[in-house]
Amino acid sequence: MKITVLRLGHRYGRDERITTHCGLVARAFWADEFILSGDKDTGVLESLKKVVERWGGLFEVNYEKNWKKVLRDFNGIKVHLTMYGLQINKKINEIKKHKKDFLVVIGGEKVPAEVYSLVDYNIAVGNQPHSEVAALSVFLDRFFEGEELSRKFEDAKIRIVPKKNGKETV
Ligand code: SAM
Repeated sequence: MKITVLRLGHRYGRDERITTHCGLVARAFWADEFILSGDKDTGVLESLKKVVERWGGLFEVNYEKNWKKVLRDFNGIKVHLTMYGLQINKKINEIKKHKKDFLVVIGGEKVPAEVYSLVDYNIAVGNQPHSEVAALSVFLDRFFEGEELSRKFEDAKIRIVPKKNGKETV
């Protein structure tokens, strides 16, 4: 089972930080691939690739201008995170039962109306507006039931030794 995160509507100059955080959350919370759509921001793509090189894992970082094609061609379960969707608490068990690959779609400032009908699930992490970073982290954490937080990353050049006080890395 593979989890791909599709980030829609990235804008140069405005979204670098938040999109980078979406990619970091996707990797840290056990997704396998991050696809950027919107502006082709090589700065964001490169900085995510550098994190993978240093901190390990087999995480892929890609760009695709044509987000409709990604949605149409995806062979698996497509979940769009939106405040207008059905509550995660009521649907997460049903979603987890599918033994297929997953595409998790997160939006930006404006999400095209078509997205809602191209997916299998529109899921809300609370029906209040917040952020794609928060929605993605809560979704993946519920999906993996917290196990993602103790995952070991293959081929890491650097690893943190958890400590009560101070910082230690090896
Ligand atoms: N008004 C926008 C829309 O059309 O949905 C929301 C923009 S919001 C700043 C950016 C993204 O954060 C959304 O596309 C969605 O993926 C995510 N998001 C924000 N609040 C959410 C919530 N309560 N549940 C799930 N996802 C949410």
